[in-house]
Amino acid sequence: MASTKLVKFIGRDVLSENAKLAERLRRLYDEAGVKVYEFLGGPGSGKTSVIERLVERMLRDFKPDEIAYIGGDIATTLDTERIAKYGVRHVQINTGGTCHLEVPHVEAAIKALGGPEALRSLSIMIIENVGNLICPFNFPLGAHLRVMVADVTEGEDKFIKHPLSTRVSDVIVINKIDLAKYIGVDLDKMISDARSLNPRAPIILVSARTGEGIEELYQTLLRLAPPARR
Ligand code: MG
Ligand code: ZN
Repeated sequence: MASTKLVKFIGRDVLSENAKLAERLRRLYDEAGVKVYEFLGGPGSGKTSVIERLVERMLRDFKPDEIAYIGGDIATTLDTERIAKYGVRHVQINTGGTCHLEVPHVEAAIKALGGPEALRSLSIMIIENVGNLICPFNFPLGAHLRVMVADVTEGEDKFIKHPLSTRVSDVIVINKIDLAKYIGVDLDKMISDARSLNPRAPIILVSARTGEGIEELYQTLLRLAPPARR
C-alpha cells in the first residue's frame, strides 16, 4: 500500500521539481531582458517552417545577433540548419531519444550560446521543442509564451484529443490553412474546439508556405510578450 502511494508521489515530484527549475529559468531570462517564445506541436505540423517565416519577419526589426534559436530534436540537426541560414544565433539539442525538452537541456543550450551573460545581448530567444503533442506541454521551460502549432491535415479533432496541451498554450497556431479546401477539413470546428478548451489564447490561422497569417502571429507575440530592442 505504501509503495503504491510512493509511485504516485514520485510522478508528482518530477513535475513539480521541473516547474521549480522552469521558474528559475524564467528569472534568468528576465534578468537578461530576453523574451522567450517556445513552439510546441506534433511532428510535421510545421513548427520549423512557421519559425522560418517568423525569423524572416523579425529580421526587419531586429539584428541577427539579437535573435537566438534553440532546436530540440531526438537525433538530427536538420531544423537548426534551416534556421542557421538566416544568420541568427542557434544551438541544436539532441535529446538522445527523449521525446521532449527539459530544463537541463535548455540550460546546456544557454551555456553553448555563451552562458547567461550572452543572453543579455538578445531580444528574442525561440525554443522549438521536440515534435510531440503530449509531454512537452507538461515540462515548462520558463518561456514567456508557449505557442502550440497544429495543422489542418492532422485531423479536425486534434484539439479535443489533446485538451491539456490546448489549455496550457498561450497562443494557438493552425498551420497549412492553404490546404484546408483540398482536404475538406472543417476549420470552423477546429477553431471552436480550440476556443472552448482555451478561451484566452489567440487562435491564429497561418500558412507557412504562402506567408498568410505570419504578420498577425508576429504582432501577437510582440503584443503579449514585447521584447526590448537593443
Ligand atoms: Mg521542426
Ligand atoms: Zn516526452
